[in-house]
Parts: sequence; C-alpha cells; structure tokens
Amino acid sequence: MDFNLTEEHMMIRDAARDFAQTELLPGVIERDNAQTFPDELVRKMGDLGFMGIMVDPKYGGSGMDAISYVLIMEELSKIDASASVMVSVNNSLVCYGLEAYGNEKQKEKYLTKLATGECIGAFCLSEPEAGSDATSQKTTAIDKGDHYILNGTKNWITNGGRAEIYLVIAQTDKHKGSHGINAFIVEKGTPGFDIGPKEDKLGIRGSDTHTLQFNDVKVPKENRIGDDGFGFRFAMKTLSGGRIGIAAQALGIASGAYELALKYSKERKAFGTEICNHQAIAFKLADMYTEIEAARMLVMKAAWDKDQGNNYDMSSAMAKLYASKVAMEHTVEAVQIHGGNGFVKEYHVERLMRDAKITQIYEGTSEIQKIVISRGLIRG
Ligand SMILES: Cc1cc2nc3c(=O)[nH]c(=O)nc-3n(C[C@H](O)[C@H](O)[C@H](O)COP(=O)(O)OP(=O)(O)OC[C@H]3O[C@@H](n4cnc5c(N)ncnc54)[C@H](O)[C@@H]3O)c2cc1C
Repeated sequence: MDFNLTEEHMMIRDAARDFAQTELLPGVIERDNAQTFPDELVRKMGDLGFMGIMVDPKYGGSGMDAISYVLIMEELSKIDASASVMVSVNNSLVCYGLEAYGNEKQKEKYLTKLATGECIGAFCLSEPEAGSDATSQKTTAIDKGDHYILNGTKNWITNGGRAEIYLVIAQTDKHKGSHGINAFIVEKGTPGFDIGPKEDKLGIRGSDTHTLQFNDVKVPKENRIGDDGFGFRFAMKTLSGGRIGIAAQALGIASGAYELALKYSKERKAFGTEICNHQAIAFKLADMYTEIEAARMLVMKAAWDKDQGNNYDMSSAMAKLYASKVAMEHTVEAVQIHGGNGFVKEYHVERLMRDAKITQIYEGTSEIQKIVISRGLIRG
C-alpha cells in the first residue's frame, strides 16, 4: 500500500491548482452573482485536457486515470464548483458513457468532440416525476423502425443550455419496466427539442441548469446506445462513476473552505490573540482537517477501484455520501470561523457553503447512497 502520489499525479494536481488560482479565482464572485460562465474558460479547460481526462487519446482524450480525475476535480472545486460540475458531467457521465458503451461510429462522431472540449455534453435522466425513483421514466421513445420518436420533459439538466450533445434516457416499452428503457444521443437543434429557461439556484450558480422538452423529436436508431433495453443499466453504471467526480467535488469544496478558515484564523485577532489560539477554533480546525482527510481516503479508494477494474458501486456511493456530509458541515464551520466576514461574498466561504449543498442531492441523494451501500452490504 502506498499513500504517496506519483510525480505525474503531483504535476497534474499542480497544473489544475495553478489553473484554478490564475483563471478561475478572478471573477468567481461576479460569475456566481450573474449566474454565468464564459465559453472562453470552458475552452481553456478543454485545452488543458480537463474535458476528456480519462478518455483514450485516440478519441481526443487525455488518457489519464481516475486518480488524476479526482485530483483535478478537487483543485477546481476549491475555487469554483460551477466549473468543476461542468467538468464532472462532461467527463464521467457523457464521455465515460460513450466510451464504455457507445459503438465505434458514435465514438468517432461524438466522443472526439466532447473529449477535446470542442463541444460540451449533458446527461438527461431526471424528470419532474422521476428523480430518485429513476425507473419511473415518463419520457417515451417509440420505435418507428429506423428511428425513434421522443416525447417528454427532463429537468435539472446540468449544461442544459450550453451543451450540444445530450444523452437522453427514455422509456421504449413500459411493460418491460427498467428493461424497456433506452439511452439516446440527441443533438442540439433537432426539431422539437426545446431548452427551457435557466434555473435560479442556491449554489453552483455559474453552472447552467435547464428543463428540456422533447416534442416528437426524431432520433435515428443509430443514436441508441447499446442493445435495446440497456438504457437503465447504462444510466446506473455511468452514475456510479459520476459519484466519484461529485465526491471529489465535495472534497474540494470542503478543503477549499478549510484552507480559507485556517488562514483567516491565523490572521484575525480577538481578546489579544489570533483566534486559532482559542481552543474552540483550534478544535474546529482539527475536526475539519481530520474529516477532510478521511473523505479524501474514501474518494481516492473509489478512484483506485475504478482504475483497478474493481466494482466501484459501493466505494463511489460511500465516497459521495461521506465527502458531501463533510463538505456541508465544514463549510458551515468555515463561515463560523470567519464571523461576520463569513457572511459576505468577499471572503468566498459563504459561496462554498451554498455550493456544498448540491453535493448531497445530485447524482443520487445521500438517502439513495445509503440504499446503494446497504443493499451492497446485505447482498454480500
Ligand atoms: C443543480 C442540479 C443539477 C442537476 N443536474 C442533473 C443532470 O445533469 N442530469 C440529471 O438527470 N439530473 C440532474 N439533477 C437532478 C438530481 O439528480 C435530482 O434532483 C436528484 O436525483 C433527486 O431527485 P428529486 O429532486 O426528484 O428528489 P426526490 O426523488 O423527489 O427526493 C425527495 C427526497 O426524498 C428522498 N427519497 C426519495 N426516495 C427515497 C427512498 N426510497 N428512501 C429514502 N429517501 C428517499 C430523497 O433522498 C430526497 O431527500 C440535478 C439537480 C440539481 C438540483
């Protein structure tokens, strides 16, 4: 067992840290206020290879491992979780989904553009009546021979407006339940495919989240991913890897808040001494650091499982469950350590606190992670 990062991993982490400090930090408060994220920054992340981190270089990817992916995710998330969710969705839901389960033609046509950041992808599973209960898909995909006709609504879709390629889950045969679900590649601009207004959110405000409408959208049969009826399994396998990315996002949010709190506590004085000398503050820092390190171990273990070819359904669920709890609890503590300054935007911790909440909700709520973990335990 070796807990050290390799030279290469350290270089990757440092490159992401440098990019986050020099490119993401300036303007992060303004982007959060305005709910925007410039295309230029997305292009820069693509140039650095962050949009197709684990994709084979033959499809334009960076060919890195899952450990590299979580290192990059942590560094970006320390500064701007809106940037990191774009990276996470594009990498672990869209690129991974296509690379693992798409056919050669689909990979050549779509994956190459997504992995380089030439265009962005979105993953469309959730619906107004199908969130945690993802088998209750109401969006239909009727088989018409050489094509399918899609009808329905998807909501909460990350990159919903910015994306050009959408992976859409829909029910083809409701009598077959989850075995009657398929996944499709849908291109922006396909007639009948409409993008609703951007959601006004508590956190990750730079990330665009939209409702999507499908009204008699014609999708060629060659755009179905995998065999007929593979869509639900596709979604679950893909989300399992996605949870590693969101766990790393939560870890980054927590460690970013901790670093700010530590620095502030060494500078701010009260009662004639720096506040870190008050045991109540010092103990908060001790708890934060200990639990962040524990979360890091779970995140790294899940990424390692993926790299080793082990099953990572449980380890990714545990990493997401724990890292998101740590992110939520310790961003609140970071605000507390900052006192009144913690409550204003200039000090960044209030944004991290708002951003932390979503990590307990998307890609499976914490309650759903507990279902995954407990089922795994009971099954043995
Ligand atoms: C900002 C944002 C971005 C998102 N991005 C995407 C995206 O890109 N693609 C996508 O497909 N979806 C996306 N989502 C949707 C997200 O994955 C869902 O919101 C999430 O899965 C929860 O579903 P729900 O909102 O319908 O809540 P519900 O399923 O209605 O759950 C409500 C509450 O009930 C609990 N609950 C439900 N069932 C059980 C159970 N069996 N046992 C115990 N508790 C239970 C839940 O944990 C939760 O606390 C996004 C959501 C947000 C807010």
